[in-house]
Amino acid sequence: MHRKEIVAQAKATFERWGVDMSLCEVGMVQTITRRLDYIATPQLILCDEAHHSLAASYKRIFEHFKNSVLVGFTATPARLSGTGMKEVYDDLIIGPEIKWLIDNSYLAPYDYYAPTLIDVERLKRASTGDYSNKSMDQAIKVRAIFGDVLKTYKEVANNTKTIVYTHNVQASIDVTDAFNRAGYHAEQVDGKTSAEMRKQAMDNFRSGRTLILVNAELYGEGVDVPDCQTVIMLRPTDSLTLFIQQSMRGMRYQPGKRATIIDHVGNAYRFGLPDTPREWSLEGQPKKERGKSDAPAIRTCPKCYAVLPANTHICPLCGFEQPVESRELDVKPKQS
Ligand SMILES: [Zn+2]
Repeated sequence: MHRKEIVAQAKATFERWGVDMSLCEVGMVQTITRRLDYIATPQLILCDEAHHSLAASYKRIFEHFKNSVLVGFTATPARLSGTGMKEVYDDLIIGPEIKWLIDNSYLAPYDYYAPTLIDVERLKRASTGDYSNKSMDQAIKVRAIFGDVLKTYKEVANNTKTIVYTHNVQASIDVTDAFNRAGYHAEQVDGKTSAEMRKQAMDNFRSGRTLILVNAELYGEGVDVPDCQTVIMLRPTDSLTLFIQQSMRGMRYQPGKRATIIDHVGNAYRFGLPDTPREWSLEGQPKKERGKSDAPAIRTCPKCYAVLPANTHICPLCGFEQPVESRELDVKPKQS
C-alpha cells in the first residue's frame, strides 16, 4: 500500500478473515522497497491503488520478486497521465460498474452540480498529460471566484463535511481563508505539509472539528472519511484517473448518505459523470480520444446547474423543465 493508515486497515481485514498473519508481510511501498533484501520471496503480491504500479518504487518491488504472482487493485486502471498498465500487468479483470455499486449500496448515490467558474479555453496540456500549472493559473482567477464557490456551497451543500481540491498551494490557502471568513471551520493541507500536521488535519476532519478540508497537490486517496459528503473541484484535470479519484471521494457508502459533487472547473464536460460507463484496457486511453469531441451524453440544468444524463427533461433536483425547443435543438428539420 502507499499509505500508513491503509496498512492497519488491511491487517485488520486479513485477520478478520482468518488469514495466518505469520505468512504475510503487510507494508507501505516505501518501507518494502527499503527492505527488499530482508523479505522472504512471496508467492503472491497484492498491490493496492494499483494505478501507481508504474512508479519507480513499485516497479523496484515487482522486479525484485519477478517470479511472484502479482495482483493489483484499483478503481482506475490507468496512470494519471492516461498510460495503461500493460508494462506491469498481463490481464485486466473488470469489476462491477460504478452504477451497480451505487444501486447495491456499496457506494453512496450523488448529485452533481457544474457551474463552471473558470476560463476553460485557457487550459493547455503539458507533457505530463495533464494541464500545465501556468495554464491552470490563467484559467482560474481564484480571488475572483470565491464568492461563487461559497454561494454554490451554501445553496446545495451547506454545512456538510467537504473536501476541496485546488490547483496550487496559494489557491488552497485563499479558498481556506474565504471559508473561514464566512464562518466555516476550514483547514488546508498541501504536498509540503509535514506528516504530523497532515495527520492532525485529518484527525480534525474525521472528528468533525474541521468541516472543510482544502487540499493542493495531494491526489486525494489519503482521504478516507466515511461521512465526508461533499467534494468541491477547483482543480481542472485532463486525467480521467484523477477525475474519478477526486469526484468519488465523498461516495463512501453510509446508510442514507447522498454525496454532493460541485465541479467548478468543467471536468464533467470532458469526462461525464462518475458512473458514466467506461471502457478500460491495459493499453491505456488513446491520446486522440481523450478530451476530444466525443463529448459525454450529459446536459446541465440551466436553473440549478445540476449535471444530468442528456435525455433528462425535468431536473430531478430543482424541478426545472427543459423547454421543448432547446431540447430538440440538434434535431435536424424534416425535409418537406
Ligand atoms: Zn435543476
